[in-house]
Amino acid sequence: MGRGQKTCPDCGNTTGPRTYQCSNCQHKFTFKPAGLRTQIGKDIKDWRELENGEIIRVVQGTGPVWRSHDEELEEQSMGYAGLFRVVQVIDDGILAHSLKSSDAGRVMIYMGEEERSKVDPRLLKRPHKLRKATKKELLVHA
Ligand SMILES: [Zn+2]
Repeated sequence: MGRGQKTCPDCGNTTGPRTYQCSNCQHKFTFKPAGLRTQIGKDIKDWRELENGEIIRVVQGTGPVWRSHDEELEEQSMGYAGLFRVVQVIDDGILAHSLKSSDAGRVMIYMGEEERSKVDPRLLKRPHKLRKATKKELLVHA
């Protein structure tokens, strides 16, 4: 069987990878959404091992949050999200450049322990969650 080819579960006919319907028995193939297969990179656990120039994805909704004093419900994400190029790993985070062209500055992606800020206790410092950039993301931003 050629690369990417698949076999019809109903009749055993071999088809090309992009076939939606079996040419022999009209069985309809189901596809995993392309995004799910290709756009989720591996979690990065050893962020201290990241090297200068590596491209990482910071997961949306992770990182520090700001909470208003009286209204526990009012919560605002203070974290970063999206693709970043690592500049340097420091004590409790990563210096990185956003790959969004509109946002060219250097930022510090907090990766330290979860704790209340000593400067402003409404700020809950939480580490970001990081993923490896996928091949597709690397192609776009190479
Ligand atoms: Zn078939």
